[in-house]
Order: sequence, then C-alpha cells, then structure tokens
Amino acid sequence: MNCIFCEIAEGKAKSDILYQDEFIISFLDIRPMNYGHSLVIPKKHYESFLEIPSNDLSAVINGVQIVFRAMSDSLNPDGINIVSNNGAAAGQSIPHFHFHIIPRFHSDEFKIKLNLKTYKGSSQKDFADKIRSYLPGKLISNVKE
Ligand code: AMP
Ligand code: ZN
Repeated sequence: MNCIFCEIAEGKAKSDILYQDEFIISFLDIRPMNYGHSLVIPKKHYESFLEIPSNDLSAVINGVQIVFRAMSDSLNPDGINIVSNNGAAAGQSIPHFHFHIIPRFHSDEFKIKLNLKTYKGSSQKDFADKIRSYLPGKLISNVKE
C-alpha cells in the first residue's frame, strides 16, 4: 500500500516534523489554510476514526493538545480549529487518520459554518431517536419532568 503519511511516519518521505513520540507524529501541512497549519497522525495506519483503537486515539488526542498549546504560545492566533475529515464526502483526501490543527485569525477570509440548516417539524427528535437507537445505555433526559 502506498501511503504518504506512513512514509512520513517511517522517515521515508520528507516533512517538517514538529513533534513525535512512540505512537504519533506531528508535522506541517504542505498546503496550509493558514501558515502553521499542522497535522497529528498515528504512526500506525488506520483509515479513519472508526478503525483507530482507543490507546492510539488517546495518544493522538494527547499529541493534538501538545501541538495546540505550542501553536497557541508561538503564533498567538485568535483561535484554533481542530478538524478531522473522515471519508471522501467529508473531504478526506489522505486515507490515514489525522487531525488538522489550524491557527485562526479574526481577519481570516474563510469561515467554517456548522449551523446552516434548521430542523422541520418532528425531524429533530427523529434524528436524535435514530442515533440513540445505536448507542448503548439508558436514555437520560436533560429536561426536568
Ligand atoms: P485531508 O484532506 O483531511 O485528508 O487532509 C490531508 C492533508 O494532508 C491536506 O491538507 C494536505 O495538504 C496534506 N498533505 C498531503 N500530502 C502531504 C505531505 N506530503 N506533507 C504534509 N502534508 C501533506
Ligand atoms: Zn498510512
């Protein structure tokens, strides 16, 4: 299998490595949304959030926080986005699971909008019920009866 992120993790392809430990590696994205845009990946190849086991996921999340803190202190951005695209429809172009850490500024020309739709009729409850039916545990309401 030909995976550029595996090659970076194995030291076979060049990258600007920021940080690494036994399980993860972080390096600059070559096509940054803003300068300093970084990636954190597990050294082992997992395609997406679904495949990565929790010990490697914990190591990745820990690495994200370490790089986030360094980015915050070094670049003084106004904000930082943590993004993970999973699946081609979500914009994933490299099928090796990763998080983007993107420094953001009030002067940015791009916006990540997360709230474009409104639910119609009972559809909000329907969507909640559908997802809940695949989740473990009892339904806990946050509304006082
Ligand atoms: P995604 O589209 O979420 O899968 O993100 C993949 C990211 O990897 C993109 O933002 C690319 O710019 C970046 N990328 C691709 N090849 C390399 C590389 N050789 N070194 C660093 N970043 C890369
Ligand atoms: Zn890979």
